[in-house]
Amino acid sequence: MTKGNGDDPKPGSRMERIQQGVRKRTLLAKKKVQSITKDDVKSYLLRNAFVLFTIAAVILGVILGFSLRSYKMSYREVKYFSFPGELLMRMLQMLVLPLIVSSLVTGIAALDSKASGKMGVRAVVYYMSTTIIAVLIGIVIVIIIHPGKGTKENMHREGKIVQVTAADAFLDLIRYAPLGILFLIAGKIVEMEDMGVIGGQLAMYTVTVIIGLLIHAVIVLPLLYFLITRKNPWVFIGGLIQALVTALGTSSSSATLPVTFKCLEEINGVDKRVTRFVLPVGATINMDGTALYEALAAIFIAQVNNFDLNFGQIITISITATAASIGAAGIPQAGLVTMVIVLTSVGLPTDDITLIIAVDWFLDRLRTTTNVLGDSIGAGIVEHLSRHELKNRDAEMGNSVIEENEMKKPYQLISQENESEKPLDSETKM
Ligand code: ASP
Repeated sequence: MTKGNGDDPKPGSRMERIQQGVRKRTLLAKKKVQSITKDDVKSYLLRNAFVLFTIAAVILGVILGFSLRSYKMSYREVKYFSFPGELLMRMLQMLVLPLIVSSLVTGIAALDSKASGKMGVRAVVYYMSTTIIAVLIGIVIVIIIHPGKGTKENMHREGKIVQVTAADAFLDLIRYAPLGILFLIAGKIVEMEDMGVIGGQLAMYTVTVIIGLLIHAVIVLPLLYFLITRKNPWVFIGGLIQALVTALGTSSSSATLPVTFKCLEEINGVDKRVTRFVLPVGATINMDGTALYEALAAIFIAQVNNFDLNFGQIITISITATAASIGAAGIPQAGLVTMVIVLTSVGLPTDDITLIIAVDWFLDRLRTTTNVLGDSIGAGIVEHLSRHELKNRDAEMGNSVIEENEMKKPYQLISQENESEKPLDSETKM
């Protein structure tokens, strides 16, 4: 009896066929692994060259910036050095207004009023809830860590906000974007105040902001995406790397907008009707990172002033921080300016904004990255929630295309008949 003897199955038996199948699959898998090491790696590198260059530019920028700090460049030299970075900023900013207007027009035109209304409501609900979550994270984390222990007397004040100066923008510079990011970051590091001035409280404040932003960007937003769409958030975030690095480099969610569009539409395949409708609004009003930072920074300033905030004042800070983040433009350090609203609402000294300026150029980059992530995940979620309306619209469009084709048919038949007559005509003419 061969039954049960797995070592030597009967030729042509079921067992033998199974074993052959397993052998074939193992061989195929082996071949696949072998080819992954050659062609696949090469094509992966080629496909992702731009993203890899952008990441390399950030790393090189940091290294270059720190190594050039010992040369003590003059203000003018630093400006010349950052020039390629400023060109990139100008060029991206130049694209933003036409991009916002045209994408909103095409986005709304591609949807009927009912679908765009529903989509708009979903987007606003997402924006409001994520912003409120961000504010709450900021408040809880600053109260727990309490970075403002002690007085502000020994804290360094810095009285200027560095502005980006004018430069000619070359339209096709976007193809050299990684280089621009390198100089933007290196320039900022060269320009940075001496690290020595960043005392204990300010360092703790920086760490607190980073922890808050990380909780929001790495836990809350991906979890929300997963709970709503049931898809892997890390695959989606992986497709956004270029936009996130650009946000880190430019500190401006508006300037990053062209790259965000590209990542969402071309890499993550989000429906253009959604991105065009949702992203321009999101980049302008949805700023989770800014909201978190505004609430956190206001409470930090209260702590260094030994100012005890009651529950009502904390609620006031949450509301004004939400409003201030909506009001902040998607440009570098806009959040620092709208902080005035939050501080005055609870009677804190607005002058004390100068206490946190020294580290704001750095924290601004991190909150901008969080802002761009929030907008992008929002587009993914709104697309998922609106999938039925989008499908219905597709079906309608499909029907109208069929109808149009039906209308064209008689004409096509006539023209085909004419076509078939043509050679005869030409033949007779010849
Ligand atoms: N720079 C931020 C942005 O563009 C705004 C801010 O200053 O918080 O998103």
